[in-house]
Amino acid sequence: MANSSNEVSGLEEILNFVPTGEPVVSVYLLVDRSRITKRDYQTKLNSMIASSKEKLEADTNIDKSQRKEVFEIFEKVKAFVNDKFRTDSTRTLAIFSSGDGLWEEFRIPIIMRSKIIIDPKPYTQNIRSLINNSKKYGVLLIDREKAQIYSVYLGEINECLAAFISDVPSKVNFKSQAVLSERKLYGRLEEKLHHFFKLVNDRTMELFKGKKFDYLILAGRKEIIPNFLNYLHSYLQSIYIGNIDAEPDSNISLISNKAQKVIDEFEAKTKNDLIDRLIDEYNPNGLGVLGIDATIKSLLIEKIRILIYDRQFTHEGYICGSCRYLTIEYKDKCPYCGGKPVFYNDIVDEIVEDALNQGCEIVDIEGNEKLIRAGSIGAVLRYKL
Ligand SMILES: [Zn+2]
Repeated sequence: MANSSNEVSGLEEILNFVPTGEPVVSVYLLVDRSRITKRDYQTKLNSMIASSKEKLEADTNIDKSQRKEVFEIFEKVKAFVNDKFRTDSTRTLAIFSSGDGLWEEFRIPIIMRSKIIIDPKPYTQNIRSLINNSKKYGVLLIDREKAQIYSVYLGEINECLAAFISDVPSKVNFKSQAVLSERKLYGRLEEKLHHFFKLVNDRTMELFKGKKFDYLILAGRKEIIPNFLNYLHSYLQSIYIGNIDAEPDSNISLISNKAQKVIDEFEAKTKNDLIDRLIDEYNPNGLGVLGIDATIKSLLIEKIRILIYDRQFTHEGYICGSCRYLTIEYKDKCPYCGGKPVFYNDIVDEIVEDALNQGCEIVDIEGNEKLIRAGSIGAVLRYKL
């Protein structure tokens, strides 16, 4: 998510948050440049803050000092968004903050509904669903004596899964290197490397079995990778998607940027293949839908497995103020609960948010002409219509 992060992000901390008794403010702000200008999302933030403040003023359960803390957080969020934040390729900005020093910001690569939630814990249901349904990439960095594995997902390096050092230090390994002929020494070094590569393969395989990553990227010097590939388990060979030029000690943002290029290429191909299948196979066979109307209808009955849309696609619509019934047609009354439908300039982020809350996989893509001609949005269903 972050373009400039120099350390593994605090996402794990937020997901495993233990309540401290202080209220946590979770702010989600849709900032996608193809949908909204900076001015408009600043206005949206201000109006969300104003209505949250109103609710807090009326809430007699919250004590005065906590209310003051929350108000201070609002000011901090405003200052951050107005002065410091640059949209770049971020589609949703998420900030989690509390009065006892918590401040974590995340750049989320898909659109989500803008909202402010104040709870004892960070609001992360949508992020969890996104992580569960996003592909995780393992990046294995290796040289002759050291190896390290990172996991990359949602466009950012998120955790270090493991680090290993060859267990036999090279210098004390041989009692007297001087008496060994060069050939013997070379033989022993190769033997040591052989053991190390085997160990790295075994440990990587364990992490894969533990579902720590879905795909693998290798990083190392040019002569190392082809050698190590001879040790790589056939399962790992089948999920291996490419190499980058980096080493265990390389700067983490360099690793992240290089890995992201390999991931982007791989994902573009996977997404285009999926759209071909949706249009040529799933949709004709009743296992897929195309166009916003059919997509919304499938969403309302919770039949979507994968939601697919063009990143530029926006559409007007109506959402019931009481039950969240979605429609693109004007109606006086909600057909489900009789509530009042509210007009939205764009309901695509609302569709994505509801799909995330239903645990769907979200696939966004830009410029796939076939998808655009088919209505710019569609879905693979869990079962036939
Ligand atoms: Zn309703």
